[in-house]
Amino acid sequence: MALAPQDTEIPETMIRRAARALARAKAEGGGCFRFFDADLDACLRARILFETELRGAVARDELVPYFQPVMDLASGRLAGFEMLARWPHPARGMVPPKEFIAMAEDIGLIAALTEGLLRRACRAAAAWPEGLLVAVNVSSLQLRSHVLAGMVRTVLEETGLPPHRLEIELTESALIDDFDLAREIVGSLAALGVRLVLDDFGTGYSSLARLQALRFNKLKIDASFVSAMTRDPDSHKIVAAVVGLGQSLRLQTVAEGVEEQAQADALARLGCDGGQGWLFGRPVPAEAVPWLIRQATPPNGVLGLA
Ligand code: C2E
Ligand code: CA
Ligand code: CA
Repeated sequence: MALAPQDTEIPETMIRRAARALARAKAEGGGCFRFFDADLDACLRARILFETELRGAVARDELVPYFQPVMDLASGRLAGFEMLARWPHPARGMVPPKEFIAMAEDIGLIAALTEGLLRRACRAAAAWPEGLLVAVNVSSLQLRSHVLAGMVRTVLEETGLPPHRLEIELTESALIDDFDLAREIVGSLAALGVRLVLDDFGTGYSSLARLQALRFNKLKIDASFVSAMTRDPDSHKIVAAVVGLGQSLRLQTVAEGVEEQAQADALARLGCDGGQGWLFGRPVPAEAVPWLIRQATPPNGVLGLA
């Protein structure tokens, strides 16, 4: 419904606005009526525009991989990089993933988005020195379909990156819905020879039994525990417990969100294998990675390649 004279007095505009109210009534499930609302309408149109732009950007392969260094804490050497998605938007600048990953999941774009970025990340990593790994985040939704492992295999073949240099990062939420299906898919990824990483460990609800049933290689300790560990004894205990769990299950541990030297020192003392965070470097575009590799010289002066 649109009202005259509040909404407009022009008949054509009136019909268009009533049509928008109809679209909203349908979007909210139908079987109801809605009045035209200029604010809500602007919001809805902005979202539709943003979705259309994202579709275009994915179709034209415009999303770019940024790479953040991951360090080996014991040696101080560079172990590899995590790929983090960025969307260079003509009006909004560099859009961070928080603003478009969930949208891509909602509108059925996540598989295409992951494939494009995975290809660009693997192509970049294939040119780095042998020992360096590249980690790529995969959405929980993708653990509901068997196409994932085939896509990863194709991209590895195309780019020539050896499977053992690719890490696939999954979050615990991937393991909650249909555990048996997730386990099959994780199994087919493992069979390709890629490494599996459980991301944001400690923030989800997966049980230790499930963790043990899957062949993960690495646990990433969530930044919320790491950033508090030098000030809050409980956070320190949680980090220590996760590192210990990793050691007893023979899983590597990597701490995220390392911003201060004191955190890196505490993590190294606990025996945590890896560290990632602003202390070691922010995410950078692919062109800057060779420079970072050259700069990765630990305190002992040896070139920092693991
Ligand atoms: P994540 O996988 O936990 O990635 C780590 C996030 O922490 C990144 O944010 C990184 O820039 C940020 N970070 C790194 N070091 C520090 C630090 O020392 N301090 C602080 N405060 N933050 C730090 P970013 O790049 O905004 O990514 C956010 C999330 O978006 C990622 O969290 C990941 O869940 C998701 N994401 C990013 N790229 C992709 C992708 O290609 N596919 C999917 N499915 N998700 C992605
Ligand atoms: Ca991650
Ligand atoms: Ca994480």
